[in-house]
Amino acid sequence: MTVGIWVLGDQLWQDQSALASEANAPIILIESHGHSTKRRYHRQKLVLVWSAMRHFAAELEATGRAVTYEIADDFVTPLRQWVEQNQITELRVMEPADRPFARFLNGLDLSCQLTIVPNNHFLWSVAEFKQWADGRKSLLMESFYREGRKRYGMLMEGTGKKRTPVGGQWNYDKENRKPPKKGINPPVPQWFKPDKITRQVMQEVAKLDTFGDLEPFGWAVTRAQALQVLDYFITVRLNTFGPYQDAMVTGEDTLWHGLLSPYLNLGLLHPLEVIQAVEAAYKQQDQPLNSVEGFIRQVLGWREYMRGLYSYVDEDYPQGNYFEHHQPLPEFFWTGDTPMNCLHQSIDQVKRTGYNHHIQRLMILSNFALIAGLSPQAVESWFHAAFIDAYDWVMQTNVIGMGLFADGGVLATKPYAASANYINRMSDYCKDCQYHPKLRTGENACPFNFFYWDFLARHRDILQNQGRMNFILKNLDKMSAEEYAEIRENASQWHEQQTP
Ligand SMILES: Cc1cc2nc3c(=O)[nH]c(=O)nc-3n(C[C@H](O)[C@H](O)[C@H](O)COP(=O)(O)OP(=O)(O)OC[C@H]3O[C@@H](n4cnc5c(N)ncnc54)[C@H](O)[C@@H]3O)c2cc1C
Ligand code: SF4
Repeated sequence: MTVGIWVLGDQLWQDQSALASEANAPIILIESHGHSTKRRYHRQKLVLVWSAMRHFAAELEATGRAVTYEIADDFVTPLRQWVEQNQITELRVMEPADRPFARFLNGLDLSCQLTIVPNNHFLWSVAEFKQWADGRKSLLMESFYREGRKRYGMLMEGTGKKRTPVGGQWNYDKENRKPPKKGINPPVPQWFKPDKITRQVMQEVAKLDTFGDLEPFGWAVTRAQALQVLDYFITVRLNTFGPYQDAMVTGEDTLWHGLLSPYLNLGLLHPLEVIQAVEAAYKQQDQPLNSVEGFIRQVLGWREYMRGLYSYVDEDYPQGNYFEHHQPLPEFFWTGDTPMNCLHQSIDQVKRTGYNHHIQRLMILSNFALIAGLSPQAVESWFHAAFIDAYDWVMQTNVIGMGLFADGGVLATKPYAASANYINRMSDYCKDCQYHPKLRTGENACPFNFFYWDFLARHRDILQNQGRMNFILKNLDKMSAEEYAEIRENASQWHEQQTP
């Protein structure tokens, strides 16, 4: 029996289960350029993935492993050739995180046996999540997170049944919602100068017709660089990560966020080493608990939960459209050319870098898409194209579920819908905008306001079943018929003026 291992582009970790299963087996990595033209990807995402793959192949070779690196139009042709040339009788692949790729893999017609090795790049396996989820009335992230804290002994004190969360609370979110102060001074992010391999990939990507700026490119492309980003985050940014986690400031693209998702999602970092390093910083460097717990909740809680849920829900989850929203994606999502300053800033930033932090993604981009009634699938497709860290497993639950509530509440207990009030409180965007954040009708009314109230009114019947919406629906009921008619008129005029 001759075993061969296919390492997928987001599995770039030497201890990943397929690689670890057979020390001397030949390895193949395939860059499929045809795959990348089937849908749009941000230019910097293509550079990141292909450069990281090429660096990883070189690292594997340096450890003495036999590595074949193919650049091809499709995956199947070079794979079949390699299987035949090397007389492979068993091809091992670590279970893909993305369902469409898993389906593709299972449908492959190869001359050898295919073995899918369980994915060890997440903390919870698919089976363990299922065991946790089965039979529960609700799949609340907070319950899952607490289970994870106990399971990994993360930020816990005491022993056995007497174990309690460090500091006496599970969650310090209330301390982590500070609006931006004037004159805050976040540290510059850590970027890297592209090396020869990266520059070569950049030349190749420059020829492709896709979205986003190619330069400046400063993302880490090796595990060693990704570890430097982690270390820099812990020593320089973690301290203030918590309080300003939800703030948005013009010209400050990253604030105190970690910028770790591209590396976690590629396999350059493992989630366990990341949370362990952050916990150690709490114990040894006295880092503040609200920041430490806030960060660990993102990785041990949200990230694992999103992946677990993705693998747990039905295959048709991506087609969800609970509110029956069908408006096309406005053209400005690709250009950033809109007078709505919050959207202009967020889209311009993602074009330049491939990155927005969580609140820009949730409370600006997807909030707008939700209240303006854009098609969930068009929005998901845009997120997939626009972001440096986008993969099917993390997009579907975040965009379809969390951002757009298109799953009808499998994930969130109420839609994340907000008017300009929230954006005005948590950012400095409104002061430089042609619209007025307090007005909900008229020429200068902020579109977030008329769309918000229109959204509530259009879906009043189904929203009243979401218990947590009742308070706000009472405010809707106080609105005069005349004002609502004007809101409706503003909303439909706005759509008429857009070019999809
Ligand atoms: C509409 C929408 C789309 C999103 N799309 C993506 C995506 O394509 N890829 C992606 O990795 N994350 C996505 N997220 C989650 C989150 O916004 C990003 O992980 C985060 O902004 C990455 O930046 P960071 O590393 O600086 O994060 P930090 O703020 O420093 O957070 C630390 C880490 O926590 C993890 N994390 C936090 N929240 C989530 C979450 N909801 N889902 C998964 N991981 C989480 C990430 O690994 C992140 O690196 C999306 C969220 C929303 C609301
Ligand atoms: S006024 Fe409205 S459109 Fe302008 S930045 Fe504020 S929320 Fe965004």
